[in-house]
Amino acid sequence: MKPKPQIMDLAVYQPGKPIEEVKREYGLSEVIKMASNENPFGASPKVKEAIASEIVQSAYYPDGACSELRKALSTFYHVDEDQLIFANGSDEIIQFIARVYLDESSSTIMASPSFSMYKLNADAVGAESIEVPLIDGKHDLQAMADQIKNNTKVIWICNPNNPTGTYINEQELTAFLKRVPPEILVVLDEAYYEYVTASDYPQSLDHLSTYSNLLVLRTFSKIYGLAGLRVGYGIGSPKVIDFLNRVREPFNVNRIAQRAACVALEDQAHVEMCRLKNREGMEQYYRKLPEFGFDYIPSHGNFLLVDVKQPADRVFEYLLRNGFIVRSGQSLGYPTSIRVTIGTPEQNDQILNILSELAMKGVS
Ligand SMILES: *Cc1c(COP(=O)(O)O)cnc(C)c1O
Repeated sequence: MKPKPQIMDLAVYQPGKPIEEVKREYGLSEVIKMASNENPFGASPKVKEAIASEIVQSAYYPDGACSELRKALSTFYHVDEDQLIFANGSDEIIQFIARVYLDESSSTIMASPSFSMYKLNADAVGAESIEVPLIDGKHDLQAMADQIKNNTKVIWICNPNNPTGTYINEQELTAFLKRVPPEILVVLDEAYYEYVTASDYPQSLDHLSTYSNLLVLRTFSKIYGLAGLRVGYGIGSPKVIDFLNRVREPFNVNRIAQRAACVALEDQAHVEMCRLKNREGMEQYYRKLPEFGFDYIPSHGNFLLVDVKQPADRVFEYLLRNGFIVRSGQSLGYPTSIRVTIGTPEQNDQILNILSELAMKGVS
């Protein structure tokens, strides 16, 4: 049995290594994962009880419409309920977008390097991916708009960008939206939205009334600390949301995830604490890295791309042996950099100590 040609060339996504696997492989008792930008402080403590009380209902299918969470987010963001779509992580919405808008006859534009799911899902449906290089780690919106062709259906903007942490500001976004024809869907992936503290970061939801071709993606996986439960959502025009819903599997968000997300959303004090601690953690790196002679791109997410001036895969291995899982920049388009998730102050100190050793003696 031969799959479709575009599937033959598709590589399986390589996620950050799981903690248990690293413990076993390297004989370590403690391993810290700073590879997938999960929240080191975890979810709001209130989530735990909510999960325990929901789990007794496990025999029953979840609410396919995510009604409670829908109501909560509609109030929280002042958007209509039919402007929201929910999924098993925002990754799943990326898949919906590809299935609904892309095929062999279409093209789609994305920055490079950026989040790999845009291209992977475009490849899977046989669409042409037009990759536009970043400039100093940042989206080149000018060049991206210049690449628009007659068959372009979707443009992806990752803001802040994973893996570089740079962001597009309000003015840059508006200028771009003005240039893009209204038949092209602009996907604004704001997975790290809650971490951003820059005052000129776009208020993207304010643009939804003007640009019905804008779709904003957000998630409970990052600052809300629910990556393991999988809840992401999209906010856009009712028309786009309706089309995406047509390919959505009816019970795609499980009931524990829905309950946990509702409770997590209510605890904005926890979100605020995580945002603050993340900025403090970032400062720990900014202070130390220059001492080691390592460069970095200032980041607005909860991760930092650090140029360790040595082959990334070897630095990755070295950190792994010392109980830290990070992402090697090799597969992310930065062969001498590692991407590190900002951890607790102690975790940051620990990893900075290892990096300081590395700076002195290099990896052998
Ligand atoms: C983590 C991440 C996501 C995916 O989040 P899920 O909701 O867990 O699927 C989407 N986009 C970017 C840029 C991310 O870094």
